[in-house]
Amino acid sequence: MKVELQNLTKIFPSRNKKSNEEVIAVNDFTLTIPDGKLVGLLGPSGCGKSTTLYMISGLQKASSGKIFFGEEDVTNVSPENRGVGLVFQNYALYPHMTVKQNILFPLQNLTGKDKLPKNEMIERAYEVARLVQIDDLMERKPNELSGGQQQRVAIARALVKMPRILLLDEPLSNLDARLRLQTREEIRRIQKETGITTIFVTHDQEEAMSISDMIIVMKLGIVQQVGKPQDIYDDPTNLFVAKFLGTPPINVFDGKISGGKLYIGEDAVLDVKGVEDKDVFVGIRPEGFVPSDKGEFNCKLNNVEVMGRDVSIVSTNSASLNPVIRSIVSSEYVKTIAEDQETIAYSLIPHKVFIFDKETEERICF
Ligand code: ATP
Repeated sequence: MKVELQNLTKIFPSRNKKSNEEVIAVNDFTLTIPDGKLVGLLGPSGCGKSTTLYMISGLQKASSGKIFFGEEDVTNVSPENRGVGLVFQNYALYPHMTVKQNILFPLQNLTGKDKLPKNEMIERAYEVARLVQIDDLMERKPNELSGGQQQRVAIARALVKMPRILLLDEPLSNLDARLRLQTREEIRRIQKETGITTIFVTHDQEEAMSISDMIIVMKLGIVQQVGKPQDIYDDPTNLFVAKFLGTPPINVFDGKISGGKLYIGEDAVLDVKGVEDKDVFVGIRPEGFVPSDKGEFNCKLNNVEVMGRDVSIVSTNSASLNPVIRSIVSSEYVKTIAEDQETIAYSLIPHKVFIFDKETEERICF
């Protein structure tokens, strides 16, 4: 099912009697989410991710704008009639019910023509339980399950009504690191098997990048960029997006453009012909540095962190806005670094270097 958001806006009134400042939690959000895709809604805390999700589910009413599921305008349709499955961070399972009863609950609540015969309900519950691989745990209570298993029950409960859209709000936050990895792969598999259009909220860029067909980066209620994860990583529209995606994060420097050359400190690091002279921010991805005796960019070498196949060279430069510069290079380079070496020179890979206007922080293409 295609989801279309048209100028969706949510304004919360001020709770502070002294000031009348309202909060624009979501500001003029327009987007079409194609049928059958897994979309990651990404951004820092408070940027409006959950509010967007709740407006799509119907739990919160939009202040203005419209929401369509396929061709149907659902803006004023109640949550229970929208056909969405919602999974929250804290699972919200009923503790006194077994897994089976928890999964059956949404079906038992259906009324009228939607109500299924009992045997069909049970069949459906087992079908989704098999899909999320908890069919052997049906008689247990939630407190007899691991966090990952509880999250699967919550997903099964959301899927049992065969929703048109699946909405997941930080579904992995309560899981430990290993389980998060495993469960995110599970979500991807379940989404592919069911083909349900899924919107998945997270503040973890790695999580969003790893499983999403498409990501939406938000800041202060405003969509910054929408696209395939790799495209956004390779082609960020502004400094915020460039900084938000990537581990280790992008290295940011004060720089300037003068006479068609990009300078970081005194070093002319790249040709940027055709770009007007001005002060800029320079972002360099960790994989954009190539250690080289003839390198144009000179840094102070701190240490080398071995990561296996690759190494991370940690260095500093007075123009760096990050405490240290992290470059990721092939482990072959370690052999060329002398024990008492104090400096390191890099050549830069042009397409891994981004420059941004200092005032607007928008990208300047070169
Ligand atoms: P997090 O990752 O921390 O959950 P989020 O990106 O999901 O954050 P939202 O919960 O959508 O952010 O909140 C967006 C903004 O709206 C925040 O500034 C928040 O304080 C504000 N907000 C959310 N709900 C309300 C409310 N009921 N009343 C007033 N302001 C609210």
